[in-house]
Amino acid sequence: MKIVLLGAPGAGKGTHAQRLKVDFQIPHISTGDIFRANIKAGTALGVKAKGYIDRGELVPDELVIDLVKDRLAQKDCEKGFILDGFPRTIHQAEAMKQFVSVDAVINFILKDEVIIKRVSGRRVCSCGETYNTALLNGATTCAKCGNELYQRADDKEETIKNRLQVYYKETSPLIEYYKNNGLLLDLDCNDRSIDEVYSDLNAMVKKL
Ligand SMILES: [Zn+2]
Repeated sequence: MKIVLLGAPGAGKGTHAQRLKVDFQIPHISTGDIFRANIKAGTALGVKAKGYIDRGELVPDELVIDLVKDRLAQKDCEKGFILDGFPRTIHQAEAMKQFVSVDAVINFILKDEVIIKRVSGRRVCSCGETYNTALLNGATTCAKCGNELYQRADDKEETIKNRLQVYYKETSPLIEYYKNNGLLLDLDCNDRSIDEVYSDLNAMVKKL
């Protein structure tokens, strides 16, 4: 199954994608993760992408399209994939149509104030673990490896507000676009636990 996860940054797409990946044995393709890996490795792509990401802006379409096209052509994507963070613009969606057709686009619906609280409280570790200050009880180090936790530049409150504005302007038109294509499935995430939301999501994907 070929799935796109659509929704504002911080709506929980990454968390749920990790669970889908395990349950359905298909790769989770996160453009954010690919960019971060490139930035860490200091590649040309990483250097280009870093400036945009740190300002909360979208990485230019051509850069992202090439990267995703290349990734989806790899063997592990034959059975399907979970795309997270792509497409982010109508232009990217149109470009994607030329090299792959997806089975469904799942639209994560969550209020802005919940997103801002959640994202600005996120802390990460260099080992890949993610935490939230609401559950850390003041701890500043990773429970798994002991390293110091930090806040990603694009998770700062000013940046997340900017990312939400960019989302409403550039990405939310995709909701209408995929509705018109008959691919859109709404996933209501408001006032529900992660497990409740995931249970709906899992059932949705099973039916595809
Ligand atoms: Zn760690």
